[in-house]
Amino acid sequence: MIVSKKFVYLFSEGNGKMRELLGGKGANLAEMTNLGLPVPQGFTVTTEACTQYYADGGKINDEIQAEILKYITELEKISGKKFGDPKNPLLVSVRSGARASMPGMMDTILNLGLNEEVVESFAKLTNNPRFAYDSYRRFIQMYSDVVMEVGKKYFEELIDKMKEEKGVKLDTELDADDLKELAKQFKAEYKKAKGVEFPSDPVEQLMGAVKAVFRSWDNPRAIYYRRMNDIPSSWGTAVNVQAMVFGNMGDTSGTGVAFTRNPSTGEKKLYGEFLMNAQGEDVVAGVRTPQTIDQLAKIMPDAYNQFVKICGILENHYRDMQDMEFTIEDKKLYMLQTRNGKRTAAAALKIACDLVEEGMITKQEAVCMVDPKQLDALLHPQFDAAALKKAQPIGSALPASPGAACGRVVFTAEDATEWAKRGEKVVLCRLETSPEDIEGMHYSQGILTVRGGMTSHAAVVARGMGTCCVSGCGDIKMDEANKKFTLGGKTISEGDYISLDGSTGKIYGEAIPTVPASISGYFGTLMGWADEFRQLKVRTNADTPKDAKQAASFGAEGIGLCRTEHMFFDTDRIAAMREMIVSETEEQRRTALAKLLPMQRGDFEALYEAMGGYAVTIRFLDPPLHEFLPTAEDDIVALAGEMKMSVQALKDVIASLHEFNPMMGHRGCRLAVSYPEIAEMQTTAVIEAAINVKKKHSDWDIVPEIMIPLVGDIKELQYVKNVVTTTADAIIAKSGSSLHYKVGTMIEIPRAALTADEIAKEAEFFSFGTNDLTQMTFGFSRDDAGKFLEAYYAKKIYENDPFAKLDQIGVGKLVKMASDLGKQTRPDIKLGICGEHGGDPSTIEFCHKVGLTYVSCSPFRVPIARLAAAQAAIKYPR
Ligand code: PEP
Ligand code: MG
Repeated sequence: MIVSKKFVYLFSEGNGKMRELLGGKGANLAEMTNLGLPVPQGFTVTTEACTQYYADGGKINDEIQAEILKYITELEKISGKKFGDPKNPLLVSVRSGARASMPGMMDTILNLGLNEEVVESFAKLTNNPRFAYDSYRRFIQMYSDVVMEVGKKYFEELIDKMKEEKGVKLDTELDADDLKELAKQFKAEYKKAKGVEFPSDPVEQLMGAVKAVFRSWDNPRAIYYRRMNDIPSSWGTAVNVQAMVFGNMGDTSGTGVAFTRNPSTGEKKLYGEFLMNAQGEDVVAGVRTPQTIDQLAKIMPDAYNQFVKICGILENHYRDMQDMEFTIEDKKLYMLQTRNGKRTAAAALKIACDLVEEGMITKQEAVCMVDPKQLDALLHPQFDAAALKKAQPIGSALPASPGAACGRVVFTAEDATEWAKRGEKVVLCRLETSPEDIEGMHYSQGILTVRGGMTSHAAVVARGMGTCCVSGCGDIKMDEANKKFTLGGKTISEGDYISLDGSTGKIYGEAIPTVPASISGYFGTLMGWADEFRQLKVRTNADTPKDAKQAASFGAEGIGLCRTEHMFFDTDRIAAMREMIVSETEEQRRTALAKLLPMQRGDFEALYEAMGGYAVTIRFLDPPLHEFLPTAEDDIVALAGEMKMSVQALKDVIASLHEFNPMMGHRGCRLAVSYPEIAEMQTTAVIEAAINVKKKHSDWDIVPEIMIPLVGDIKELQYVKNVVTTTADAIIAKSGSSLHYKVGTMIEIPRAALTADEIAKEAEFFSFGTNDLTQMTFGFSRDDAGKFLEAYYAKKIYENDPFAKLDQIGVGKLVKMASDLGKQTRPDIKLGICGEHGGDPSTIEFCHKVGLTYVSCSPFRVPIARLAAAQAAIKYPR
């Protein structure tokens, strides 16, 4: 028998564990219902219905429609009201709710069920025509906005015009007739845009709304948000249909949002905002500036006390900080939503540590509670204290998301994106932000808004991104049309520098220098716990002693990749490197190499010193030659002089070195095969440096790891390894040292992965170079993929950049296979990863599962990797 799927659940039929099916909001509404809290009842259309909608080509099929109608009847019974009945109308809200919270990314429609007839009698029934017509115009506005996909601004302009005509400032000053007129105007706009009348049948309205929410899962801002937060598009969103309660019924009604702890600092204190006589959207959209939650205690003490009690119940129940939405309808409190609250990185660390201290959660739970990617915000610079002290703020507003931002002012999200892409640091200044601005916000150093409170869209999204944000600066005289604003007597135009302090809310009309961050306090505590649980070691990719020291201070346990060619990028060194590259004879090359040797030896000594005895993997030269060839006439002339050859002769050599595809050209171990003297020089530098440092630090067990790049065939490795061991053994024997060293290889060519059992006969370790491995497995260039990836995202061929997040299905299969084959030949083989993916949390989880020994990443990602490795070990013990 085929059991047909259930696509709709009453809140009372679900529970908090049904996130995948009901979405986060639906599951939590069900859970709050089960806890006996005052929740307006309703039902959830499942995420599977959303998937089905897409499978059916953007249609809600008859079966699902019938089920929704059945549940409307159920809701009518529960509420004692009737859909579309003017005498006793049931009005509902329709809200999206995916598995992972995506604040503001999808759509919400309130007051659905109103039409001309219903609103007229609703005005009489409630004895409050203003309220009735306010609800009606909001419904038409939100519904049209969602269905027409025109953005919130579109209708706000009509409201602003009406306010101007009436000579009033606030929405609340518009009377019933004004709102009635606005409703008429909105409907006319709808008809103009859609070519049909605004739907008056509540069932048609509901189906249209559910469909629009499903469709909003795929709007550009939702797609972008998913990509940033690793949310698969296959999840879909659920839709919650809930009986309306009204915060806009008059002065004994209101609506608000609150957090059980401060989402910026983590302080254990109720934190939130509310607006009297308003609906939820007003608080979140930041159209009116709200009051703080403690003021509610004075205005409506009973509702406030009940709310405080519920906050305690919810926090204890979920054992995490909650972010809640509530409405008070004529003094009666209703809970509309609860979820684990988004928080800044600093707050996340404090809350995790506090909850352990309070005995509410274990250390493992605390470690799993903090998003590793969020730590990034703490690892980045803060304002230089001395410079900050000297600077004079031109104004201040709400410290909505901490951090230090300094950049050039832009006034649109599009400009932010465009300027940032050409390398500018920008600060985005807006009257208020809306979800359409998400990409531009992401590209900005900081965000400054004129309107909106701590829970406005800009604030919530910026905190989620770890971007500094100062919001609600009503003192700004904004002139968006001419791209300038005035604050504190200073006019700031597009392109001028400003600085924002997201921790104090201060705004500076100048550039203030920043300084690096450090790990201490709660950060240090949590990292200590992470280290207790993780099984992967974390190393760093570092080419200079400065980077190595930075990484060591962030807890790196060695260097997993030193790209030796990068040691020669400095202007005073590149000449010797170029000389080596353009040498035509072995003699010329040996002369150049002799100049490089002392520099390399010195650098390696400094690296060993910086890592204090931890392992250091040094990769032999691997430059695609084009990165180093001189192109400027001056450089060519200088090099020709150095090499005692004519400029023309040198130009001929350079031309002869031209490669059509340098990434797949004369690079990697191919260089050492052609010119073994390069490997000889590098071995000499590595071994002599180790002997020298060992003499100074006899207690350090320095075992240099020499890594041969771009190996595809065992014979390549055998050849180069032979050069290395012959050279190294002679130096060690001559010095009388007891130094040990290892020779291993990168696995970055698919052929090496396929023959890893063979390669492991020679290689004492593998390090997966997933940059090249991705490039060669996909068959597209790591340097040029950006040109077409956007099209691939838009067409849903890829959801992520495979150069940032490992393609576990394809490239990952090679990594797993090569690891298994390597272990077959050499059970104690050390396995690492040193491509860019080594600092990506989802890739780190994969590396843990595959059984690698370590991940290696850039210094600033070391703490992120430590935490991600701990989370992987807790989730998947091995
Ligand atoms: C790699 O290919 O992943 C790697 C680490 O080497 P490089 O980026 O230097 O080619
Ligand atoms: Mg490589």
